[in-house]
Amino acid sequence: MRRRGTERQQVDLTASNIMASVATEQAQDRVDILGIPVDRFTFDQTLEVIDRFVREKTPRIAVTADSSAIVAAQSDPEFREVLLRADLVTADSAGIRWAARRKGMPIVERVSGVDLVDALCARSADHGYRIFFLGAAAGVAEMAAEALRLKHPGCNIVGTRHGFFPAESDEVVASEIAPYRPDILFVAMGIPRQEKFIARALPIIQAPVSMGVGGSFDVFSGKVKRAPRLFQRFNLEWLWRLMLNPKKFSKVKALPKFVLAVLREES
Ligand code: UDP
Repeated sequence: MRRRGTERQQVDLTASNIMASVATEQAQDRVDILGIPVDRFTFDQTLEVIDRFVREKTPRIAVTADSSAIVAAQSDPEFREVLLRADLVTADSAGIRWAARRKGMPIVERVSGVDLVDALCARSADHGYRIFFLGAAAGVAEMAAEALRLKHPGCNIVGTRHGFFPAESDEVVASEIAPYRPDILFVAMGIPRQEKFIARALPIIQAPVSMGVGGSFDVFSGKVKRAPRLFQRFNLEWLWRLMLNPKKFSKVKALPKFVLAVLREES
């Protein structure tokens, strides 16, 4: 039995090595969206790239970018700088996929922060990854962690912390997180705050992967309902979020700006 288990492990490892090298070869396969390079990986390839980052242990930044992030980067040099130095930028919106398609470099599927948190928590159970949740209102990250521990037994979330503190405290908060030695640090404080935190915290925490994941903890804690499948299927997740929280209008306003900028760039 034991031997068979070892053989199976070897087969799995080989398969994952092949996938990782496929993903590595495609590492330069990015599409430029308004000056921001976005990776064209599928969801599974993205997971393989993240696995590789964790194995290599070099601190890296991952961004789940939507159209509002690309718009924000046009007028926020600090945020833009983080996007340009990020090791992985996933396409977390239909808008980005639309723009990529217009450039003749389609992105096969959306790679969202919520789905990555879920899938990487499942992998944590298999591979023992140490995960830290930073962000959202007091208690929400812990509720999200509890829900994910139940969903993926063995999921190794080693610590949680709320995300309401001033930017001047970034280094102090990073020093509090560093002793947890996370392999993956999820930061759910909204764009661009979370990416700026990640850039400041990187040399202190040195997590192999630090990723901004927006409102993901609100979703897993049950505080916010994820859009029904029908809304997701028709790329109307933004409309659902707007219906639940009209304060999100500033984010929705970014969409026409994004579309206009992409069309202007073409002409
Ligand atoms: N948040 C936080 N600290 C702040 C501001 C916001 O932790 O200073 C949290 C907020 O509670 C929410 C998340 O950041 O859980 C932002 O979610 P949103 O859906 O707005 O993210 P985005 O649309 O940028 O992906």
